[in-house]
Amino acid sequence: MSLVPNHVAVEDDQVALIDAAREYARHELFAHDRKWDAGESSVAEVLPKLGEMGFMNLLVPEDLEGVGCPFSTYGAILHEISASSPATCVTLSVHSLVGTILDHRASQAARSECLPHWGDPGSFAAFALTEAGAGSDAAAVTTTATKVDGGFRINGEKMWITNGLTGRWFLTLARLVGASDDASLCAFLVDGRDNGLERTAIHGKMGIRGSETAVVHFTDSFVPDKFQLDVPGRGLHVFLSGLNRGRVGIASQATGIAEACLSEMVSYARQREQFGRPIGTFAAVGDMIAKSAVELEAAKALTWRAARLIDRGEADRRMSSMAKLYATEAANRIAYRAVQVHGGSGYVRECRVEQLYRDARVTTIYEGTSEVQRIVIANGLARDGAALSEA
Ligand SMILES: Cc1cc2nc3c(=O)[nH]c(=O)nc-3n(C[C@H](O)[C@H](O)[C@H](O)COP(=O)(O)OP(=O)(O)OC[C@H]3O[C@@H](n4cnc5c(N)ncnc54)[C@H](O)[C@@H]3O)c2cc1C
Repeated sequence: MSLVPNHVAVEDDQVALIDAAREYARHELFAHDRKWDAGESSVAEVLPKLGEMGFMNLLVPEDLEGVGCPFSTYGAILHEISASSPATCVTLSVHSLVGTILDHRASQAARSECLPHWGDPGSFAAFALTEAGAGSDAAAVTTTATKVDGGFRINGEKMWITNGLTGRWFLTLARLVGASDDASLCAFLVDGRDNGLERTAIHGKMGIRGSETAVVHFTDSFVPDKFQLDVPGRGLHVFLSGLNRGRVGIASQATGIAEACLSEMVSYARQREQFGRPIGTFAAVGDMIAKSAVELEAAKALTWRAARLIDRGEADRRMSSMAKLYATEAANRIAYRAVQVHGGSGYVRECRVEQLYRDARVTTIYEGTSEVQRIVIANGLARDGAALSEA
């Protein structure tokens, strides 16, 4: 039931990592996740364990003391974790996304200062793009960066920031004061410790209630020059190119949720009897299960393909968007059917699929809504024609 297709041979050490993720998620994270959902409490309590198991620095290269695993293995690990705890999955996915952006875009000084510690809970990271007035239109950010001696001062407010309550590092998009339009958007790594940050929890989320979501206000937060990523004017590009990878992470989260839904659906359909027979023997119920099984396989295949392109250094923006779009929408359809197959039993909190249905919902919204993914795919086709990289 892994994200890894049956015909693909994976190195033994990668298989061991995926198996360890599955075991830990099933035997420990699952119970935590149910508790976090009920109490809206934070996954931060398991960060030390996640760090110890190597799951917080999966994408950091080995020469910087990371695990250095292929992106496809990372996706398979997220899939396993999500099947038991979608909230832990997004927490790790965002932290890893910031790490991989630093690896590809930060100065040598910032890489060697931050990345060797990426597996420590004290290096927990957040991706601070969205603002109250800048959601899908990320270029509309109003957070400012003012050049000062030795660095920049950041002022403004970010919204909906995953890992925003206990995170230390905030990858932040800001507008450079005094710069021309084409040189104004800049990416910075802000150290959240004692640096003018005010964090306010966003409560009342529908799903992934164990993950931290916060409003983060910056007041004169200092960023040294070495923590500016890329050159002025390339800030949005830094974020969007990172999202090529992040979106495949969210696709893996969606396949994990869908896998859990299918498994619950099948097991309930086998044991629940009506009219003297298991409900799974009714064509209508079988139809829901069959559609879900096919959609799950298609979602996994697309997600795997997008991840393999990243491994080969051929990350394809359209392919990442296709995987995210299809996997997240399929997860929502499958979660809907999982509740339907459970009948009234699926409508109450104690039933696992009730939570999965709520957890699935956000996957079509964050890291670019489904509508935005369709724009990315259509614009890419309009620009480049129909050719996609071969996976
Ligand atoms: C739980 C959660 C965690 C999040 N974590 C993070 C995080 O860690 N970091 C971060 O930066 N952000 C995060 N976000 C923010 C998320 O990425 C945004 O919510 C998302 O990008 C959509 O922005 P918006 O909410 O402002 O919606 P809007 O952009 O206002 O969109 C509203 C609706 O209009 C549609 N729409 C907008 N523009 C177009 C268009 N051009 N064409 C067609 N339809 C359009 C959208 O698809 C959507 O249906 C998180 C959000 C949630 C809910």
